[in-house]
Amino acid sequence: MSALASKPEGCKGCRDSVHVPEAQIDRMVEKLERHPESCASVERYEARLARCTACGDLQYGSTCAHCGCFVKVRAKLLAGTCPKPGGSMWD
Ligand code: SF4
Repeated sequence: MSALASKPEGCKGCRDSVHVPEAQIDRMVEKLERHPESCASVERYEARLARCTACGDLQYGSTCAHCGCFVKVRAKLLAGTCPKPGGSMWD
């Protein structure tokens, strides 16, 4: 199979490896939680994720089309921001 054949249609810069199991993303979030001083509050985290879930720029149910971040990870970071062109959808 050629490299082009394995590319998903959603994002021209990403290959199949962009599909990371949710359990793996959750483990990344758990590692961040070991540093609570760098984490958003539970309320802020859930509000951010609700915005991402409703956002048309969420890819694969996990990834922001604008930055390529896993939104669960980005939203967990206290200093995380929404990179939506034209203005943040968060906070
Ligand atoms: S643009 Fe903002 S709200 Fe939309 S998926 Fe990315 S981080 Fe989430």
